[in-house]
Amino acid sequence: MFPASFEYVRAHSSDEAFAHLQQHGSDARVLAGGQSLIPAMRYRLARPAVLVDINPIKEFSYLREENGFLVIGATTRDAQLEFAPFIKDRYSLITAVSAVVADPIVRHMGTVVGSICHNDPAGDWTATALAMRAVMVVRGPNGTRQVPIDQFLVDSYTTAVNEGEMALEVRIPIPDAHTQGSYQKIERKVGDYATCAAAVQLAMNADGTIRQAGIAITASGPIAMRVAAAESMLVGQRPTLELLKAAAAEAPKIASPNADQRGSSEYKKDMTRVLVGRGLKQALERLGVTA
Ligand SMILES: Cc1cc2nc3c(=O)[nH]c(=O)nc-3n(C[C@H](O)[C@H](O)[C@H](O)COP(=O)(O)OP(=O)(O)OC[C@H]3O[C@@H](n4cnc5c(N)ncnc54)[C@H](O)[C@@H]3O)c2cc1C
Repeated sequence: MFPASFEYVRAHSSDEAFAHLQQHGSDARVLAGGQSLIPAMRYRLARPAVLVDINPIKEFSYLREENGFLVIGATTRDAQLEFAPFIKDRYSLITAVSAVVADPIVRHMGTVVGSICHNDPAGDWTATALAMRAVMVVRGPNGTRQVPIDQFLVDSYTTAVNEGEMALEVRIPIPDAHTQGSYQKIERKVGDYATCAAAVQLAMNADGTIRQAGIAITASGPIAMRVAAAESMLVGQRPTLELLKAAAAEAPKIASPNADQRGSSEYKKDMTRVLVGRGLKQALERLGVTA
């Protein structure tokens, strides 16, 4: 199907993009990689009157470490993370997720910020951002503001970006040498959205106890969700198999997946437990810790 007719503007600076968004309000949408927005327009699930293309904005494409954060600009593609050597060396969760989002063609166009802004119930980057405690930077009429990811993700396809605003970047705390992660995803075939997936990141203290735990599941409800009860159960404890099992058992308690062609609700719910458990074990293995 063809999209409904729309006006298309190319922005060459952040100010220009912002001016268009302010002028057109709810009629306008940011066009980043277009991998979710264009299909939605073709199915007429989205009918924006104006598309503001931010791809010409050169200063939006960056991936750098700054003041303790990995900073990812609004037009930085998934593939840039997948192939950056410094990401492979130190960011095990990002390395794992960036190889399983969609397929290579989509990853060369799709952006991390666009994916988080899209807030698909089965999105891989939203769960990852939760586990890594990311912060989104949003430009609004009163300047820029930082929004912790837990507050940014409001509901399916809805975020803290208001009419006339745009997200500029995502900031992810840099993991130290005692931090490792894992991304566990079940998909029907390569390139598909998750049937169920779990993002896990663990940081250890020198005494062998867990300093910080980040655990999130996706394709398990209206949006990706933090498994807060599992996180707090782990922090301050020495990992044991019983503890990991108990933590993983918290995931199905908050999951409410829909039954669809990928599986029944019961199956997907149980998979949250299985995948969180596998993610915790793999993160510990990468840390050289035996549970
Ligand atoms: C075949 C296929 C398979 C896929 N499989 C997966 C998968 O397995 N896992 C997964 O997570 N995703 C998957 N996707 C989605 C893909 O990763 C998208 O690229 C991503 O969700 C959106 O990123 P984008 O840059 O293309 O955003 P766009 O499509 O350009 O935009 C998406 C939405 O976010 C808004 N937006 C974008 N950038 C901004 C910004 N800076 N500020 C404010 N709003 C903004 C847009 O206005 C739009 O509403 C798949 C897509 C396809 C086509």
